[in-house]
This record gives sequence, structure tokens and C-alpha cells, in this order.
Amino acid sequence: MGEQIDMDVPNCSECGALSHDGLTCRERFHALLAMEGQDPELASRHFLTVACYNLQHPSQFAPEAIDGLRISLKGFLDGTMAIEEIRRRTSAEYDGQKKVLRPAWRQQVILNIWKMTTADVYRPFQPRGTADRVKQWAESILLEIP
Ligand SMILES: [Zn+2]
Repeated sequence: MGEQIDMDVPNCSECGALSHDGLTCRERFHALLAMEGQDPELASRHFLTVACYNLQHPSQFAPEAIDGLRISLKGFLDGTMAIEEIRRRTSAEYDGQKKVLRPAWRQQVILNIWKMTTADVYRPFQPRGTADRVKQWAESILLEIP
């Protein structure tokens, strides 16, 4: 955690996560989703995992989609928004009227260094506590983009 720049280790060009494990953030994200099958607590936090990953890798999304995601994450964490409401909001806002994804030619990766990233959350040899780490990840993101 903390400043995640090290000249000897490759890092994610979007969130700055160091790749000591040789994985990309996308690979860690998919591995976390795969772990949900064995971990009901982690599965119950599926929305947090997806929201955190997308908020830290926003280049492919329209800015309004990222704003909506941040608002939903905050509402989910402080208990003012149930997951059903988040799903309703998302489908109402994006039922073909607005574009969630940016067209490829408008995608621009901007490096933003975060305190906690996929590299801190995904620990394949320490699966216990993954659900707790996902929650900490979400809380740390909201502290950085309130
Ligand atoms: Zn990343």
C-alpha cells in the first residue's frame, strides 16, 4: 500500500498497482470473481468488487457512468442504497439511451495512484479475509474520491 511506484517492478498504467505477482489488474479482478463460487461472503460483495475495479480503471467508461458508480458505491456502503435499487438505477439510466462505454477512440488511460489496489486485495495464497479486503478497498476508494 502507499505510493506504488517502483522502477524495478511493472505497474498498472491506470491504477498504479505493482505487479509483484506478474498479473494484471484485470487478471486479479477475474480471479476475485472466480473466488466468489467458494466464498459466499465474497459473493455477497460482488457489487463492491466490480465497482472498485471499474472506478480504478475508468478509461473505458463514460464519465457519467463513473459518477453514477461512485454514488452507488457510497450509497451501498453507508446503507442508504440497497443492491436492488442500484440495479434499478443502473438499468433505468442505461437502457440504451446513454452509453456506458466510451468509444475506443475516446478512451484515454490516465495514471492515478491509489492507496489500495487489486494487488492488495487479491492474495491467492491467503484467500481468508478476501471479502474483508474488498470492503476495505471500497472504503479506501471513497476516502480518495468522496
Ligand atoms: Zn490497475
